[in-house]
Amino acid sequence: MALGKDYASQECSIARALEIVGERWTLLVVRDAFYGVRRYNDFLVHLGIPRAVLAARLQTLTTEGVLEKRRYQQSPPRDEYVLTERGLALWPTLRALGLWGRDHFTDAQLRVFRHATCGTERELGRYDECPDCGTVVPVSDVEMLPGPGADPNPADPISRVMLKPKRLLEPIELESV
Ligand SMILES: [Zn+2]
Repeated sequence: MALGKDYASQECSIARALEIVGERWTLLVVRDAFYGVRRYNDFLVHLGIPRAVLAARLQTLTTEGVLEKRRYQQSPPRDEYVLTERGLALWPTLRALGLWGRDHFTDAQLRVFRHATCGTERELGRYDECPDCGTVVPVSDVEMLPGPGADPNPADPISRVMLKPKRLLEPIELESV
């Protein structure tokens, strides 16, 4: 094991979690999976990540049970990556990290999240509570819209799909662009 690659001497559960999601790019791959990205090439174009790094991150996330690999095409064989229960449980972490980033490091808000099913137009609260109906909104009922900081004319097709409101986890269909 390369120096500093894990936290084997730590029994802390945060250290244990960081062994899985603490590498560079990993949480952004997970974030994109929440946004509906499932396919290798789609992660690639949206993240601008080196191919080998993406392959390694997808491998780790699959091995650790955060993502599940599903074959969607037989010839040539193509797989997609879908969040498992263990992966879905990362949503509050990602959400809190995003809010922390906005509070302390950037004013740019690229995404707005709101309750998809009650007709509200107001943003979810810090704990994903709906300001209108009071529900703590499950991730599958969260609607994502572009925020005031979103590029209205992005270069990559995944970002263009996300200019329209969509639910989290709903697969991104590039054909619809
Ligand atoms: Zn609501």
